[in-house]
Amino acid sequence: MQTRSRPPLGLNPVWWLNILLVATATALFFVLAKGLPPLADPHLSWWMLVPAFVVAERCVVHLHFRRSAHSFSLGDIPLVFGLIFAGATDLMAAVLVGTALTLLLDRRLPPIKLVFNLAQFALAACVGILVVHALVPSPEHLGPHVWATVFLATQAGGVLTVLLIGLAISLSEGAVQARTLSHMLAMDFVVSATNTSLALAGAIVVETDARAIPLLVVPAVTVFLAYRAYLLERQRHERLEFLYEATRTLARSPEIIQALEGLLARSLEAFRAELAEIVLFSSDGGPPLRTTLGPGDYRQVMEPIDPEIAEHLRALVDTDGPSVRLARPFGSQPLGKYLDGRLVTDAMVAMLPGENRVIGTIMLANRFGVIRSFSDEDLKLFETLANNASVALQYDRLEQAVLQLRTLQEQLHHQAFHDSLTDLANRSLFINRVREELSGGSSEVAVLFIDLDDFKTFNDSFGHGAGDELLVAVSGRLRDSVRPGDTIARLGGDEFAVMVHDTHSAHEDAVLVSERIMRAFEEPVEAAGETISVHLSIGIATTQDSRHADELIRNADLAMYEAKESGKGRFEIFDLRMRDRVLKRHGLKEELQRAVERGEVIVEYQPIADLATGAVVASEALVRWNHPGRGRLLPGEFVPLAEETGLIRALGQFVLEQACMKARAWQEADPERPQSIHVNLSAVELHDPELMTTVETALRASGLDPSLLVLEITESLIKDADMSAPTLRALRAIGVRLALDDFGTGYSSLSYLRSLPLDIIKIAKPFVEDMQAGRQENSFVRMIVDLGRALDLHVIAEGIESAEELESLRALGCELGQGFYLAAPLDLTSDPAPPALVAHRAAG
Ligand code: C2E
Ligand code: CA
Ligand code: CA
Repeated sequence: MQTRSRPPLGLNPVWWLNILLVATATALFFVLAKGLPPLADPHLSWWMLVPAFVVAERCVVHLHFRRSAHSFSLGDIPLVFGLIFAGATDLMAAVLVGTALTLLLDRRLPPIKLVFNLAQFALAACVGILVVHALVPSPEHLGPHVWATVFLATQAGGVLTVLLIGLAISLSEGAVQARTLSHMLAMDFVVSATNTSLALAGAIVVETDARAIPLLVVPAVTVFLAYRAYLLERQRHERLEFLYEATRTLARSPEIIQALEGLLARSLEAFRAELAEIVLFSSDGGPPLRTTLGPGDYRQVMEPIDPEIAEHLRALVDTDGPSVRLARPFGSQPLGKYLDGRLVTDAMVAMLPGENRVIGTIMLANRFGVIRSFSDEDLKLFETLANNASVALQYDRLEQAVLQLRTLQEQLHHQAFHDSLTDLANRSLFINRVREELSGGSSEVAVLFIDLDDFKTFNDSFGHGAGDELLVAVSGRLRDSVRPGDTIARLGGDEFAVMVHDTHSAHEDAVLVSERIMRAFEEPVEAAGETISVHLSIGIATTQDSRHADELIRNADLAMYEAKESGKGRFEIFDLRMRDRVLKRHGLKEELQRAVERGEVIVEYQPIADLATGAVVASEALVRWNHPGRGRLLPGEFVPLAEETGLIRALGQFVLEQACMKARAWQEADPERPQSIHVNLSAVELHDPELMTTVETALRASGLDPSLLVLEITESLIKDADMSAPTLRALRAIGVRLALDDFGTGYSSLSYLRSLPLDIIKIAKPFVEDMQAGRQENSFVRMIVDLGRALDLHVIAEGIESAEELESLRALGCELGQGFYLAAPLDLTSDPAPPALVAHRAAG
């Protein structure tokens, strides 16, 4: 936007120009021009010329739009006649009287413009007289010399007029562009030349035969009408262009504020006004908002204003009169005071119509220039602009969109910080709250980390829907058992947390709250039509050990683990010795996700041998994690974590695929003695509905004979024999064999051995250890070996660590064995041959 400075206080500089013009014209006239005679006969007196000037000045077309000013009149015609047929004094008198009459009576100009116009006309006439008399010193016939001179005189007057108008505009509104000025000069040249030609032709006619004058009237009128048509067309074009541009800018501005500012800036420019403002009324009871541009560089965006003022503005316009003009004095009403306070002298106000209501008003005030008021044309254009702007702004819709956005944002915000199932705070919000509390400084805070005992079992048995219901019920009861101010959150799964704050002894309060929670859960919970006794393990951490939110929660988490380890259904308070483990656990979780992709996970194979012959008949796949920082990790260090996080599926699938490929490679290397491959399954995998697909895919991908794959499951996995049986049967149906791992350690009943579709039993290491020479007859191992034989199951003794153990097992007739004494798990990544190294030990 162009910067305009307000005119300095005191006399308008145009007045100074007026004074200068009047003085110059007066001086020129009285010193040089007064008394100069006419050039040719017949002589015309001043009063004969006056009507001609009045008529010529009335036939004026004025185009003043945006920053260009075009006007033309037929004023050159009487001037040419005056220059030729009248003396200097008569001509000056005619110019002054004629112009003054026209301006005064017809256009009711303010004094400043009246004086300017008169002085400028007088000066132009004076210059014309002086040019003519300088070049044609004595009266003469109207030959080409005179024509040329008169031409020069009118052109000189024209150039002077344009320059003076340009000067006046620059004085009142700031510099006029050179381009605009040259436009005006060119226009004036054409108009002057035409007028002068017509007038000269007229003058020659008058000199030879005055009766022919009417013959010239027709071309004169035609020329005038042509001018007028041209200028009006041009004006209409400029206005249309303006509206189009203004509307387009609006529609293109993605930001309502930008759009408003653009609209105001364009309006200021187009209407040459000093101040523009839009007031938007809000529909939701909020304050009206005003965006202002001008005077000068002043701008204010969407500032709330007094609703009473907005109401008054709105009252100014309605559908019947969508726009009004206002001028000083505005009176003492609030609106008047408001306008006076904003130094408004003249203004246009138009309404911005919306679909169902008036959405606002737009006001333009204080026109620059000699005329400080707005015309009818301006008002009409302004109204159209306001209409178009309303449509383009689509404020109604925008406002609705804004409202919707706000609601949506609130919703999203809530969702981002709340658990959708229980509507409790989520982990992010909980951490934030703890952080906020801790940033407060001195206060003590305790965090309770709460985990439901055996939730997984419940979920597995009753389904996820029931599990969700249980979680909701638990969250309700938790809510009831803490103070209203305490933050309670669901961290995920069956983990909850409570923050106890505003306390002087976080420790004691946390214990009290924990006890209260425990008590609250002594009563069973109703969920999914079941009555369920819920037990919780709670870990407590306080600001004594850490004032970092994350650490506090981690500490509580670890304490909760301790509570679980030491028998569930209890609470435990964090102590620093637990930290080591917590750090490990949390660090690994993230890393484990990437471990498989990074190739850090490998599979080792531990041979299983025929104890009678020493031949390797199978191998067990055992997973390892070559951790970049911690070195080689055994399954005990990360498999439980993988089970907890669900990563076990990906991990298990990887092991299964590797194992099947390896077994297939062995089979190809030694087709005579195919070795089977044992792969361990965890509980999560066993209950994974995708298990069958995973197994079939691994078999198909490797081309391994299904009978060579043995899946190992531990007794504890099949607590619920009825649930596992269908899966196990399906596996068996495709030819895969099943081994019962760690037999004897769980609370298995021997009846499982009958009800489950098993092929192999693996006797757990503790029973093998117990075997000592001479006691074989009574041993548990013997029992199992006999049982296996009776049920037609293969038996593998695990964890054989010595020759003694090996011999005892052989003596019992135990068929198969596995253990460090025979062979440790082997990394066979780059070894294509099947393991066969236990033979020599068997021989010994
Ligand atoms: P498991 O199925 O009972 O596997 C046998 C474990 O005993 C292996 O430990 C093996 O290295 C160890 N072992 C073998 N011979 C002897 C011996 O003579 N003396 C002693 N003290 N130990 C011996 P590892 O590799 O640490 O595996 C531990 C457990 O992790 C496995 O017990 C199995 O339950 C689980 N596991 C291993 N790999 C996987 C897997 O890929 N998936 C799943 N779900 N679990 C796996
Ligand atoms: Ca195993
Ligand atoms: Ca085992």
